[in-house]
Amino acid sequence: MGILAREGYELTPRADEAEVLVVNTCSFIEPAQKESVDAILEMAEHKKFGAAKRLIVAGCLVERFREQILEQVPEVDAVVGTGEVERILEAVQGGLRVLPAEPPAFLYHDLTPRIITTPRHAAYIKIAEGCDHPCTFCIIPQLRGKFRSRRFESVVREAENLAAGGAREITLIGQDTTSYGEDLGLRDGLAQLLAKLAKVEDLLWVRFLYAYPNRVTQKLLDTLGAHPRLAKYMDMPLQHASRNVLARMKRGSHGDAFLKLLERIRASIPGVSLRTSFIVGFPGETEADFVELCDFVRAANLDWMGVFEYSDVDNAGSHALDEKIDAETITERRNGLMAIQKKISREKLRALKGRTELALVEGPSKDNPLVWEARLEGMAPDIDGKIYLTDIEIGGEAAVAGDVVRVEISRTDAYDLIGRVVEILPRAVSREPRAIQSMPPAETLTRIATGAPLRVLS
Ligand code: SF4
Repeated sequence: MGILAREGYELTPRADEAEVLVVNTCSFIEPAQKESVDAILEMAEHKKFGAAKRLIVAGCLVERFREQILEQVPEVDAVVGTGEVERILEAVQGGLRVLPAEPPAFLYHDLTPRIITTPRHAAYIKIAEGCDHPCTFCIIPQLRGKFRSRRFESVVREAENLAAGGAREITLIGQDTTSYGEDLGLRDGLAQLLAKLAKVEDLLWVRFLYAYPNRVTQKLLDTLGAHPRLAKYMDMPLQHASRNVLARMKRGSHGDAFLKLLERIRASIPGVSLRTSFIVGFPGETEADFVELCDFVRAANLDWMGVFEYSDVDNAGSHALDEKIDAETITERRNGLMAIQKKISREKLRALKGRTELALVEGPSKDNPLVWEARLEGMAPDIDGKIYLTDIEIGGEAAVAGDVVRVEISRTDAYDLIGRVVEILPRAVSREPRAIQSMPPAETLTRIATGAPLRVLS
């Protein structure tokens, strides 16, 4: 989007008024693939009957089916894979239809034009791309290529620019964040990066997602514990607890080792919130394996948990494994595991009732614009619970999105909290609410659909 906006294209979230449609796709698991195909077909209708003149398909689906997309949906004019992001302009202007498949190698940097589609106060930074782990259920290495880190200074500069533009929270992402810097010859690269980002003024929290358990070093934990700006939060997908299943997943380890690691994390980072995710119904997961996982979840007492039903993607290593589990059992196991966690989560949140906590205001709720939302340090954007605010005014002043406030928590639920703002902390000058930067004049522009609310980052 940044590359196109720099060339003078106007971005629009409305497909019906766009002249060029770009569908950015996912193909990680079957449901994501289906959603992507549905979106392509829906956009093809706009090209047949609406204003659209070109339809482009980008992203992970292209890495799997580049030729097939063009063959099977004749309305598609060009496909752009994950390693070809910088060729989007040629695709839009008609100079590119399809490139030969190659291992993706693209990596953006701080000078790559970028349009931030999240609210101004909370931005994501991708610090690395690709993955070298052999997890048998996962085709991300095929879709995203080999692991490669962005330059240290490039990430820091991007964080500084985002903070100067009003970001209060930065979330570092990548398929394998805890390996950050290994390919650059850095030891404990993520810890070093976090320590540097912890010095960026105007940021309230810096967090990272997707820690790989055996890459969590003591240095990383000590760094998280030492810097107030580093969110006391860790997301560490464990995928399972049974030795048997983890071995078939080619992830090694087992529940007891994970419990020890969790103990070490809690001892190193007092007050840390922990999130994990599991896959249930992996081929060969016996009832005993599942019971072991349930026992693990009870013992681990984590703050947040996601459970994914195993998806049998045809070019993943696990596709060839025998002892597949039927869909009904998989869903039952998912529901069973979620029910265990729901009780844990409810208990944990209940302990917050009556307390006053620091929170970042998100703005009006998507579910109900009359209610506002905020998050605590232990709540990552989009994936964890949130606080619904019944009152955002204090002394005649109303909180705005991106404000740091104190919230008195009045009610608690299984995953969310309800509270009211009791104090708005002073805003730095760069944080004063201001108008969103306007787009260039419309008459010089072609319009492009993105499906997302947009804001140009200067
Ligand atoms: S570490 Fe994550 S991205 Fe890499 S192969 Fe395993 S599940 Fe996939």
